[in-house]
Amino acid sequence: MSANPRIVEEQTHDFRLLIDGQLTAGAATLEVINPATGKPLTRCARADKAQLHAAVAAAKAAFPAWSAAPIETRRQALLKIADALQARVPEFARLLTEEQGKPLAHAAGEIGGAVGLIRAFAAMQLPSKVLRETAEERIVQQHVPLGVVAAITPWNFPLLLLMIKVAPALLAGNTVVAKPAPTTPLTTLLFGEVCAELLPPGVLNIIVDQNDLGAELTQHPDVAKVAFTGSTATGRKVMASVANSIKRLTLELGGNDAAIVMDDVDVKAVAGKIFQGAMVNSGQVCLAIKRVYVPSSIYEAMCDELTALAKAAIVGDGLDAATEYGPLQNKAQFEKVKEFLKDAHEHGKVIAGGSALEREGYFIAPTIVRDIADDARLVREEQFGPVLPVLKYTDIEDAIERANDSEYGLGGTVWGSDVDRAFAVAQRIASGTVWVNKHLDMPPDIPFVGAKQSGFGAEMGQEGLEEFTQLRIINIAK
Ligand code: NAD
Repeated sequence: MSANPRIVEEQTHDFRLLIDGQLTAGAATLEVINPATGKPLTRCARADKAQLHAAVAAAKAAFPAWSAAPIETRRQALLKIADALQARVPEFARLLTEEQGKPLAHAAGEIGGAVGLIRAFAAMQLPSKVLRETAEERIVQQHVPLGVVAAITPWNFPLLLLMIKVAPALLAGNTVVAKPAPTTPLTTLLFGEVCAELLPPGVLNIIVDQNDLGAELTQHPDVAKVAFTGSTATGRKVMASVANSIKRLTLELGGNDAAIVMDDVDVKAVAGKIFQGAMVNSGQVCLAIKRVYVPSSIYEAMCDELTALAKAAIVGDGLDAATEYGPLQNKAQFEKVKEFLKDAHEHGKVIAGGSALEREGYFIAPTIVRDIADDARLVREEQFGPVLPVLKYTDIEDAIERANDSEYGLGGTVWGSDVDRAFAVAQRIASGTVWVNKHLDMPPDIPFVGAKQSGFGAEMGQEGLEEFTQLRIINIAK
């Protein structure tokens, strides 16, 4: 990695795996594409099955000492990692923009958020509790680590979603084998370099695949827990694969979050927030607003505002300072979103955007679609791109029912000037998180969970830490 972030494109940096404390060449290499150009960015190490098994063996060997160390030792190690990452935010941010596509300022925000997450987990405790103390007995509850954790991440927030897993897993005394998505492995590998100097060998291992080692990792008999973020389709496979050894499992999966707008809102102000909530990271956010329900009394005005915002949005290479929205992260997702655009043109009225940009890279114009049927693919499925359907309602009961009519239940928003009324609606949304008059506020001490087929198990917060432990009860006769 060049010390000068402006010449990263010319880098000849050797991105290696981290196995048993050693930065290791891959059995093969993997080409990483810059989504803003569609052209190769660099190549990095790619593991084979033998390297995956070596990584799990190293994590297993490191577990006894790491788990036996005082939590204070692990806390200090995490804080050193946070400091080291903090010192390299510009370098990590640049690399993240190049591999993922998001605007540089957002990339810096993601790396800063990752630092914040490590520090937030490092500040947490896992105290033992005396459940009962009598003359005859003493019953103690402890949180004990599980063993080797497999941390599997997607490509939309590669470093943030990694940290939500790695920081609590390590603090609790587990060891980790992490596997990033094959289209965004670089920031994770660079993070491995940081950790190689700060953690004992084997405590954190990083392998890269080409979507071919996930199942091998999740069904590995020496893996005690799988912490997975990705699509619901893959989540189903992961869930089936952990049954062999009754592994613990956290699944953070897809979403199709609805925004319900009440009839008393300031349309212009709320339109801006909804647009941002739908388009941030070019719609590639599990918790993005993916459909909006608007009362008929303000439907025209809301459509007009959203259209104006979409037309004014600046889409481009994340490295350009003016860019607000970058490309789709990879070609497969780009093609998938183009299919949704086709569906939008066939089943709705496209009032802004509606096509890919005519330039290199995987760019889609921010798109607003009105008058679309509830059973259109764009409404039923997770588009994971900058294409927002706006649906009309006349009765709030109807809006709530339609919002809940989904296999997903990740998040949701309610927008209303009368907060009590909005809160009453929020209480009826079948999702793990519902925001009222704000969106994507995710403090690290607040748990985040999915409902229905959006997954289960908490991430973040004390609950997110305890997911990486199990209870041990010691019941003593006096
Ligand atoms: P994906 O499911 O295709 O891939 C996620 C990860 O799983 C990758 O690392 C991939 O290599 C790996 N994988 C693939 N096959 C596997 C298998 N059989 N066993 C184990 N691992 C396997 O998801 P994606 O396309 O990278 O990410 C987008 C999806 O992630 C969207 O659905 C989005 O909503 C979801 N997501 C959810 C959250 C959340 O917290 N709920 C956050 C971000 C993204």
